[in-house]
Amino acid sequence: KPLLGATEIRRLAEEIGVRPTKTLGQNFVIDGNTIRRIVSAAKIEPGEIVLEVGPGLGSLTLGLLDAAARVVAVEIDPVLAAKLPSTVAALRPEKSMNLDVVLADAMRVTELPATPTALVANLPYNVAVPVVLHLLEHFPSLQHGLVMVQDEVADRMVAGPGSKTYGVPSVKGAWYSQMRKAGVIGMNVFWPAPKISSGLVEFIRREPPQTHASREEVFAVIDAAFAQRRKTLRAALAGWAGSPADAERYLRIAGVDPSARGEVIDVTAYARIAEAKNPLVV
Ligand code: SAM
Repeated sequence: KPLLGATEIRRLAEEIGVRPTKTLGQNFVIDGNTIRRIVSAAKIEPGEIVLEVGPGLGSLTLGLLDAAARVVAVEIDPVLAAKLPSTVAALRPEKSMNLDVVLADAMRVTELPATPTALVANLPYNVAVPVVLHLLEHFPSLQHGLVMVQDEVADRMVAGPGSKTYGVPSVKGAWYSQMRKAGVIGMNVFWPAPKISSGLVEFIRREPPQTHASREEVFAVIDAAFAQRRKTLRAALAGWAGSPADAERYLRIAGVDPSARGEVIDVTAYARIAEAKNPLVV
């Protein structure tokens, strides 16, 4: 089945007068093999409803419609959102009824016309991490997915404690899911070509750590720990705790070495620290 190549993408952009903007991370895929690779790595089951963020001119949307029962595509750019149904009608007339286009900011959307089980997207790079975290939080039906992000961000999302790239995206991502790198994509499959490679990140949802601390409380500890990542946790968490002595006390209750740094502990340890400050009152 036809996918969109360089000629079609440029023609579509010209037709609607779109000049790709950096602020919206508009780099369109112009290579059918890359689309096939993303769709295959996403492991979509035939009955699934897929949420796509930023369908753009429809490169990935066409591939997703071939694999899934339904695609819900959330696009922030009104010109692109308006064009998508006619592109799909022209190239996949039999699939037209399986597409919902939602004109919205994926970082804010809280309602969708169908309940998606998978997230598959070539994400706008400047907002990739907040988009993924927002969607995992607000759509618990999302069980798995595959996202393309800046390669360096992919490494941060999948990193484990102790690794150089471990940081806020790794720990918060781990709250919701298990993330793994599923490949690297070169720059020349895009128009316009970005200056950096892209990485594929596959995720599978998992239960968050067992804790009576709320997600917000746990995320506040993570933010505080990484705001000063070169400091010991005792020092980095002093503001959050009230004082260095309080931070030390909570860390000891949580079984975490107060002289360790935030980059060596996992999400369950962060949950225990949050819990130590907010003990369950019975
Ligand atoms: N999926 C297309 C492809 O692979 O060719 C386009 C991907 S392009 C990297 C990112 C897309 O996300 C653009 O279409 C852009 O307009 C859209 N976008 C940017 N910020 C967004 C946001 N906050 N919410 C929804 N879509 C957004």
